[in-house]
Amino acid sequence: MLAWEQDEWSDRYADPVSGIYQHVTENVKAAMVDLGADRDRLESVCVTSTLQETVSAMVQSFPDGSALAKISDSIMSLANVYTGYSADLFKEISSGGPRGIWRIARSMRGGAFGGDVDMLTGLLRYYNVNQRVFGVPAKLGLLLRPESEAVEAFLLLQSMRFVIGHEIAHHVLGHGSVAHAFSPQDELPTCSPDQQRELDADMFALRATQRAAERDAGAPAAHVEAATALGALVGMLVVNVTEQALFLRRGASHPPASTRAALLLGRLGGPAQTLARLFLGDLLAATRASATFEPGARVFDASQMIAHRRVGFLQSEDYLRLVSMLDTAQCREDEALTRFLHRTGSDLAEGAQAALDGDPGAALSAWGLERSRTEEICDSRRVLVFHGLLESLRESFAGRFPSEEETLLTSLVAAQLVARRLSA
Ligand SMILES: [Zn+2]
Repeated sequence: MLAWEQDEWSDRYADPVSGIYQHVTENVKAAMVDLGADRDRLESVCVTSTLQETVSAMVQSFPDGSALAKISDSIMSLANVYTGYSADLFKEISSGGPRGIWRIARSMRGGAFGGDVDMLTGLLRYYNVNQRVFGVPAKLGLLLRPESEAVEAFLLLQSMRFVIGHEIAHHVLGHGSVAHAFSPQDELPTCSPDQQRELDADMFALRATQRAAERDAGAPAAHVEAATALGALVGMLVVNVTEQALFLRRGASHPPASTRAALLLGRLGGPAQTLARLFLGDLLAATRASATFEPGARVFDASQMIAHRRVGFLQSEDYLRLVSMLDTAQCREDEALTRFLHRTGSDLAEGAQAALDGDPGAALSAWGLERSRTEEICDSRRVLVFHGLLESLRESFAGRFPSEEETLLTSLVAAQLVARRLSA
């Protein structure tokens, strides 16, 4: 059970996700007041969770000086994958003792922890494939040691404080709508993102995240700095993996997670920096491996995850195998995708050829999409998520094949072939 489920305020909110976001927003704002931020300015920004798939985390400013930060509902769900993975390792280190020290020493030689990166990659991959194909934030469970549960809840809280804090920071620092860039917008900005502003927002969010933890009654004071650094990294990676794996075109983009993380690490001191650096190696490797859908990618391996003693799931094994199959399909070479479509129908073959010729619009028209939708998909100023593209093809192919699964697979193959020509 998470710490906040035991908290008195959990009864105050009907919807747990928006309740948590509200709670986190309140204590991030209080921390920012402690750090000298203007109260009126803070009161003019509202934070809300959203189910919109074109949003990961963003802030929008209005002419009257107010602002609305939108954070995807699924951000916390995904942060939980990272914090679950990190909690046992963090617990070992933070509790000290020979084992933690030994692990640190070994890590220092290798430059990373030597944790189960394959497992983390598999967990993230499962999440990403489900989002791309079905548009749902499905997760596999990670079995934590009971003694790590409180640490996990603390890391998750710090990561959410950082994500929300980053968006509020843009407003507090007066960055306006255009330069903020934790995430996609409806229209791509005409100017390139301002990296200095991103870093400023990161640094203010980091300080607020730390301050908020210091205000918590009963927080393990000795570990606040390290948990804050790790929470900030998780916050960056969650948004990064979402954008890399699920978006074909992102809105106001921010610097790559590795760049932001390097800047952040540079501002940390002593043990927190060492610890964050060690975690970053594993987390970044898994993030990258889970977000690539090109030939040679490490596809979701159902058998490996079913057999893994630390991975639990409520879904059937058949469903996990379906996820593997769909993942394998979308990582095939262009040639294999094209061959599949050739076997399926002449209009599908025609579209495949148009895609290969570098004309995604002609491909989508050949596959029966309406002109207006084709234009939207090809409009380089618009945000485009893979799942939106796939859904349009699925609608167009509906009723054409004997089974739903065949419709899905054909749509997925077509979507991937054209997606490789649409990415920006
Ligand atoms: Zn930003």
